[in-house]
Amino acid sequence: MEHYLDNAATTRVSDAAAQAALAAMTGGFGNPSSRHQAGARAAQALKEHRAVIAGALGAKPEEVVFTSCGTESDNWAIRGAVRLNRRVGKHIITTAIEHDAVLQPCRALEREGYEVTCLKPDRMGNITVQQVADALREDTALVSMMLVNNELGTLLPVAEVAKLLKQRKSAALLHCDAVQGFLHVPFTVGELGVDLLSISGHKVHAPKGVGALYIKSGVKLPGMIVGGHQENDLRSGTEATAQIAAFAAAVSEGVARFDRDQAYLKELKAYAVEKLTGEVAGLECIGNGEAPHILPVTLVGYKSEVVVRFLSDRGIFISSGSACHKGKPSHVFAALNLPKKQMDGVLRVSFSGENTREDVDALVDGLKQAKEQLFTSLS
Ligand code: PLP
Repeated sequence: MEHYLDNAATTRVSDAAAQAALAAMTGGFGNPSSRHQAGARAAQALKEHRAVIAGALGAKPEEVVFTSCGTESDNWAIRGAVRLNRRVGKHIITTAIEHDAVLQPCRALEREGYEVTCLKPDRMGNITVQQVADALREDTALVSMMLVNNELGTLLPVAEVAKLLKQRKSAALLHCDAVQGFLHVPFTVGELGVDLLSISGHKVHAPKGVGALYIKSGVKLPGMIVGGHQENDLRSGTEATAQIAAFAAAVSEGVARFDRDQAYLKELKAYAVEKLTGEVAGLECIGNGEAPHILPVTLVGYKSEVVVRFLSDRGIFISSGSACHKGKPSHVFAALNLPKKQMDGVLRVSFSGENTREDVDALVDGLKQAKEQLFTSLS
């Protein structure tokens, strides 16, 4: 039996999502732009699916544009926002613990002459609104801050930053990467007060290859791709109707399950913390992230890559940090300035509502075996 505990990397596509994709690819396969009935049916389905995603975000359907992934949403939001705000100035504020989908476009802009202030977290991984207040300038064109950090599970003060921008009458646009927050912590775009917000399907039991960008009404973000005028002329290309159908199905389920999942995952995470720290000597939790689905830990004295492989051979799947880092030390944990022996052993356990205590028990046993069978890296 396998134990999948890497849900911040990706999630299993739910049965309802898979069925919705199949139905869209077979019965409802029309092109939403076609003028005949098959096209009209596809267009109607697309409208309904957009309304589902918008509803889950507390947005209007016309404020939701489908993209291919969270990375595309982040890149578009960042590049588009600074172009839109080019008269405001060339200063961007973001954080050192953003995903590369945000950091890399910011780095690219830096090479084009923008100045990027990258706020550093404290040792627990927290960023404060005061840091943004101190960094904010007249020429700040964009603030980009994630809602939930993908490696630490920390919550960032996005709503407070929106209030600050308002108080200071700042012209900066506020973008939020909510890829790990969506359907994991409660929010609406109205409560957050953001102008732009990115989400991704495959983190919430939809397939890979679909995401969305919320663009607040009135924010005239330049388009992403020009062509056949789809998505309100903002992102041309025939819509990925099957992935979008699956995204909507997964989101409907996620909304219906939200309260149950919140309570369930909080309890499961607390159980995992107790068992792991109580039974695996040398295992320490990192930070104080409140997101119910993400638990970063370190197995002091062991190399995380080796431990991940050891567990994988036994059917237990966790991550040595963000899946995107492919073995390189994570910039997020590096930003915490962890001592090397803690840093080397960093592991991320991440849950979905499909996990059970049995998965946690298997992980605890696997880690105990790892400690018995692997050499420590401490001299
Ligand atoms: N932002 C965060 C916080 C993420 O965790 C991820 C994926 O790990 C992304 C963006 C990128 O999303 P996608 O994989 O859909 O491109």
